[in-house]
Amino acid sequence: MFLTADPNEILEGKITDVYFERALTILKAKNVNPVVKAEFIAKGLPKGWPWALFTGIGEAIDLMQRLKITVRAVQEGSVFYPYEPVMEIEGRYQDFCVYETAILGLICQASGISTQAARMKKLAGERLVMSFGARRMHPILAPMIERNAFVGGCDGVSVVKSGKVIGEDPMGTMPHALILCMGSTVEAIKAYDEVLDPKLKRVALIDTLQDEKFEVLNVAQALGEKLYAVRFDTPGSRRGNFYRILEEARWELELRGFGHIKFYVSGGINEEDIPVLNPVVHGYGIGTSISNAPVVDFAMDIVEVDGKPSAKRGKWSGSKSVLVCALCGERKIVPNNGRDENSCSCGGVFNDSLIPVLDNGELLVEQETPARIREGVLQQVHKLTL
Ligand SMILES: [Zn+2]
Repeated sequence: MFLTADPNEILEGKITDVYFERALTILKAKNVNPVVKAEFIAKGLPKGWPWALFTGIGEAIDLMQRLKITVRAVQEGSVFYPYEPVMEIEGRYQDFCVYETAILGLICQASGISTQAARMKKLAGERLVMSFGARRMHPILAPMIERNAFVGGCDGVSVVKSGKVIGEDPMGTMPHALILCMGSTVEAIKAYDEVLDPKLKRVALIDTLQDEKFEVLNVAQALGEKLYAVRFDTPGSRRGNFYRILEEARWELELRGFGHIKFYVSGGINEEDIPVLNPVVHGYGIGTSISNAPVVDFAMDIVEVDGKPSAKRGKWSGSKSVLVCALCGERKIVPNNGRDENSCSCGGVFNDSLIPVLDNGELLVEQETPARIREGVLQQVHKLTL
């Protein structure tokens, strides 16, 4: 029905570039099957991002666990920089040859989405950031997209199934369609208030039929204290200076004693908009910017063949450690040769951020919940610049 792969086809290695399948045929015919180590690194990041988040490894582990391979990786949600390996797999090449396409796909897209979400959340600060972009992507991907938007820093997600995946209630306001069906914004918010569970915050959409400044007063007068927020989804053709529209609506509300009403905005919000709108906004619904985030171009490269360092042109050979000082945050890439190099000039201790995850298919670490990964992300990103 849908043009999507069956999960079993992914597990069986059918979602592969054909050249891996052909390589496997040749290696089998020639009885060549070395033990290799292969690392996953990004030589650069999209849009000049200085750092990115590594996510998607949970799904990759589900796949890799079925292969007889050994994996070291940085923890999900870790910040990384170009040229730092985020994962290294070790095993007989024939055992994982046809899975390279799928493993890369799982981490490249997830990492792009979570990084974009982290950037938006950092710009928005304490303001709410909601993932509203499921509708821009194939629906089969909605839970993956929104889970990674959430672990990257979004405060909530809009799709019901995504909410189940992350263990949080989905967030949403009301669609324009409700207002058009009910006949007016006031009728719509009154019905919303009458019908829906009182635990849901009353948020009215106010750009449907009238000017925002008048509509915001109409809904404020209709619901009073019960109205928690209004959402401005003002179309581009009417937007003019969006900041000024919001500022004017705020003025009119304050003047009439409705200062408690918060402002949410949505509709094509991108990174540049957030610092401009922050002074007058309490929450952002972000769609395409996050769901269509650029991917992180990780590559998988063999760095060791049968115990000997070996890599293609342009790649550093050999297994590596990414050492990070627990005290000052200094980072360095060193050979992973078991040698002790764990004291930093600052007096702190270096730890290898690549930790054993799978040993011949056996899982060595528990996967964190999305909420825990998100907490870790927020702590790391807090100290970084965009
Ligand atoms: Zn240090």
